[in-house]
Amino acid sequence: MFQKILIANRGEIACRVIRTARAMGIKTVAVYSEADATALHVRAADEAVAIGGSAAAESYLRIDRIVEACKSTGAEAVHPGYGFLSEREAFARALDAAGIVFIGPNLHAIAAMGDKIESKKLAAAAGVSTVPGYLGVIPDAEAAVGIANDIGYPVMIKASAGGGGKGMRLSRSDAETREGFRSASNEARASFGDDRVFIEKYIVEPRHIEIQVMGDAHGNVIYLGERECSIQRRHQKVIEEAPSPFLDPPTRAAMGAQAVALAQAVQYRSAGTVEFIVDRERNFYFLEMNTRLQVEHPVTEEVTGLDLVELMIRVAWGEKLPLTQDQVRLGGSAIEARIYAEDPLRNFIPSIGRLTRYRPPAGPGIRVDTGVDEGAEISMFYDPMIAKLVSFGASRAEAIERMAGALDAFQIRGLNHNIGFLAAIMGRERFRDGRLSTDFIPTEFPDGFHGADLAPETQDLLVSIAAVAQYRAATRDARAGQPLHPVPVPHDWTVLVGPPPRAPREIRVEARPAPDEGFVVTLDGRTRLLETGWQPGDFLFEARIDGQALTAQLDRKGIGWSVIQQGAAIEMRVVARHTGRLAGLMPVKAAADLSKFLLSPMPGLLVSVAVAEGQEVKAGEELAVVEAMKMENVLRAERDGTVKKIHAAARDSLAVDQIILEFETT
Ligand code: ADP
Repeated sequence: MFQKILIANRGEIACRVIRTARAMGIKTVAVYSEADATALHVRAADEAVAIGGSAAAESYLRIDRIVEACKSTGAEAVHPGYGFLSEREAFARALDAAGIVFIGPNLHAIAAMGDKIESKKLAAAAGVSTVPGYLGVIPDAEAAVGIANDIGYPVMIKASAGGGGKGMRLSRSDAETREGFRSASNEARASFGDDRVFIEKYIVEPRHIEIQVMGDAHGNVIYLGERECSIQRRHQKVIEEAPSPFLDPPTRAAMGAQAVALAQAVQYRSAGTVEFIVDRERNFYFLEMNTRLQVEHPVTEEVTGLDLVELMIRVAWGEKLPLTQDQVRLGGSAIEARIYAEDPLRNFIPSIGRLTRYRPPAGPGIRVDTGVDEGAEISMFYDPMIAKLVSFGASRAEAIERMAGALDAFQIRGLNHNIGFLAAIMGRERFRDGRLSTDFIPTEFPDGFHGADLAPETQDLLVSIAAVAQYRAATRDARAGQPLHPVPVPHDWTVLVGPPPRAPREIRVEARPAPDEGFVVTLDGRTRLLETGWQPGDFLFEARIDGQALTAQLDRKGIGWSVIQQGAAIEMRVVARHTGRLAGLMPVKAAADLSKFLLSPMPGLLVSVAVAEGQEVKAGEELAVVEAMKMENVLRAERDGTVKKIHAAARDSLAVDQIILEFETT
């Protein structure tokens, strides 16, 4: 076996590969950029080599430096992870030339599958069913219109070199085809340096279901079941699961057989994924093959009990696959949620900053793959994924329950994240029923995400939590102030629900201490027994309410509390009942009115301003574009108004909350 391998990647996947290598007794070498000098993957490896500047092009994409790092450390093989150089033929070739093993497929397979047009041709020849379409390169917009009409609307215009959802446009008409052809080619040229596009039928309300394959250098290829990745935002996966709640055994076997046939057609060795879209009648169509380990590989590991990284390393060393197709066993159900540094309440714009608090959940059936720890910085240079949260259960329902509980307990502070949004998805009936499709997010959240709606019963529980927290905090304060004669703490509270300055909803709650860390809580005439070990200063409020476990997060917010659970964050102030009656009469100081400004929601580059001073704009109209983390974010008007003054110019770099423009006050 290899003595030492290098991991040409960063973040969670570098840590993931290091974990398995270590378990196999293989020494590991990390590489890192300037921004990653103290990153977790650097500390996790046995050795680490600095390979350049923070921008990926100056470090993680530098083939020469990585080959050099292998030579200087004596690493015999390289695991590329996903992204960066993982699917670059030139990288595998350079390693080969230097006598270093690439822990991935052969050159031919990477090249053949790297291009969507070529891979679809190859798939069709191998008997794989492909999306009906035209597999030639389209010369111009008029030709695109002709082809779209031959295929029949709706159609998908795609960049042949595409990936990561880039260079892809849905079109329902000739006008959209002309526009889509231009924008897809432009985006493809900018992102991949290759503007070839093709057109295929758009499959309506499809599911994205992919087959994991694994091959060795002895001609064996097996498939390890499927993953359903239909929960996507802008064609990017958000939640993945195995098995798919939709596939029946015959469809699974048919997809598996086609995936294996395709892999065999290119003498595939290592881990690979054959992606399909599946329509409502369970017809399935090949999309593309990814010749690397996928982000979502953990769900396959959970249901097969296999370590895919270990298999990759073993077959790269030349070993035969340790199991045959008949020996593959699928059991239980696994779900992965991608935790991103982004703000779901502000149209998912990326969020960067320091993780002032990072406490992942733990427990039965919970796995967290991450590349960060508390204090780490999520920078603008790389993918803003913080962690992958994976749950496993005997049934899909159990996996969902565990995921929901783990999301409630996952503590991240210092930047915005999408945990609330993920929790809200877990709570949706349609998700629980397994009625998935790639338009799940746009149809379930048609006007974006504004925080989850809690059932009244759950709201009552959160109000009870705030009252108990207040009681404990007040008790501690009373003892601290007068240890010998502490002032009595009241039992009757008024909970003011909702952030100031809006008039809060007032709810009367009684919280009386009971034995064994218990409280008898009465709210709206209903009495519950709440037991908790929570003490002031704890962030996690773990309780049993009438025997039912409940986890919420509790933050101090001024004199109030912010209670976070199931994707909802509720601000509450808890006051003794006699004060409560007065509080309602007191004017609340209004926060500075920032609503007339368009503020930059993140640090980034102002790409363009779409409006001029004096211009009237309608709600939803584009105002400006800010680029951060390689993503362009369109800022739109929240309501109708007139632009008074523009405070920033294109190509300015912006701080968070910097004023871009100002509206007339109405
Ligand atoms: P990329 O390589 O950029 O990720 P893919 O070809 O894998 O692009 O497609 C990404 C997603 O786009 C799919 O999971 C699916 O949701 C959607 N998609 C792609 N092609 C089609 C199609 N022909 N019809 C419907 N949806 C599609």
